[in-house]
Amino acid sequence: MTDWERVRDDFPELQQTMNDERLAYLDNAATSLKPTAVVNRLVNFYQQENTNVHRGTYQLSFEATERYERSRELVKEFIHAQDQREIIFTRGTTESLNLVAATYGEQNVRPGDEIVISLAEHHSNLIPWQQLAIKKHATLKYIKLNPDGQIDLDDVQQKITPKTKIVAVTHVGNVLGNLSPVKKLARLAHQHGAIIVVDGAQAVLHLPVDVQALSADFYAFSGHKMLGPTGIGVLYGKQSLLEQMPPYQFGGEMIEDVQLYHSDWDQIPHKFEAGTPNIAGALGLASAIKYLQKIGMKSIQTRDEELMAYLLPKLEAILGVKVYGSENPSQHIGVASFNIGDLHPHDVATALDMEGVAVRAGHHCAEPLVHSLGVNSTVRASLAFYNNQEDCDQLLKAIEETKEFFNGGLR
Ligand code: PMP
Repeated sequence: MTDWERVRDDFPELQQTMNDERLAYLDNAATSLKPTAVVNRLVNFYQQENTNVHRGTYQLSFEATERYERSRELVKEFIHAQDQREIIFTRGTTESLNLVAATYGEQNVRPGDEIVISLAEHHSNLIPWQQLAIKKHATLKYIKLNPDGQIDLDDVQQKITPKTKIVAVTHVGNVLGNLSPVKKLARLAHQHGAIIVVDGAQAVLHLPVDVQALSADFYAFSGHKMLGPTGIGVLYGKQSLLEQMPPYQFGGEMIEDVQLYHSDWDQIPHKFEAGTPNIAGALGLASAIKYLQKIGMKSIQTRDEELMAYLLPKLEAILGVKVYGSENPSQHIGVASFNIGDLHPHDVATALDMEGVAVRAGHHCAEPLVHSLGVNSTVRASLAFYNNQEDCDQLLKAIEETKEFFNGGLR
């Protein structure tokens, strides 16, 4: 049994006060906090182990290369990929998704083809496909969401057709916390000869991920949203697809042979990792994975569900608060987006900050989705396993005080 209060000691950022109040960090969907073990891993690399990888001829560099490649192995295990060559290190989810659009998309999408995404997409799983569709004279189609914010499976049947080449969906939505039925979508995509690209940015901190069980062709995520450093992320791709794709960027580390007027590319994954990689980032990500695995992703998933089951009904019960998406806490993975009457979300977030509560306000890089809710922005509280009921209570109390402050309680 995990002692969740003790877990909080691993996150020194939680120990501070903000505006003279206890800090309730509820912006985990933007970026997670980092446990001391991850920070120490970075410091140790730069203090003791710092060299470049893959080209050294001395012991220190051999060791750094070995650790870098061991991090890849750990990522492979974390998401249950078949082979470590299917793991490409990138800067983050955004770069991973752009990589697929610029290589696989460039190579396979032709005029008249269709790309299908959902209305719940973050801009980083929307704009690359929108721009590819424009460039290739293909059609971009959006799968509708049900009123409770879940992907509308009837609409999926209409939208995925024999013309579909790519289906791209978020695993967990960053505004509503909705879980996409990836397996079903993958089956349908594959029946029509299309591939499925999954944006896992909001899933990796909350769920055990198995890319093979999901039948994902590509799966993208960011280290910084799962306790790791910024600037490191992952693209998983099926080996057979990666091998056929052209490189994304050109330069050192990704070549086998360079001649004056011709070059040959290295094997995967190196073909997609041009230039000096984020070595410390990969080691930090590996350390984050070890930390998560020590607690166990199943245990983390249960903890997150319990926290949301505590928070959501209380949030919904506050007079004047509208929570977007499902009324069911289990359909809100880590995220609750809401508004208070017609108060501006930025005013609300500023007022909550005065009470030590860190939340996000805005369109959350998902403008089409937020507009479909009939608003321009929302307040978003997002949880992680190191949050506790006290954080939830602090948010709820701060909302009451915000209501009181702005207009006497929105009566
Ligand atoms: N997709 C989703 C669902 C996200 O929440 C985010 C980050 N807010 C991204 C993609 C982009 O991640 P990054 O900025 O780390 O590339």
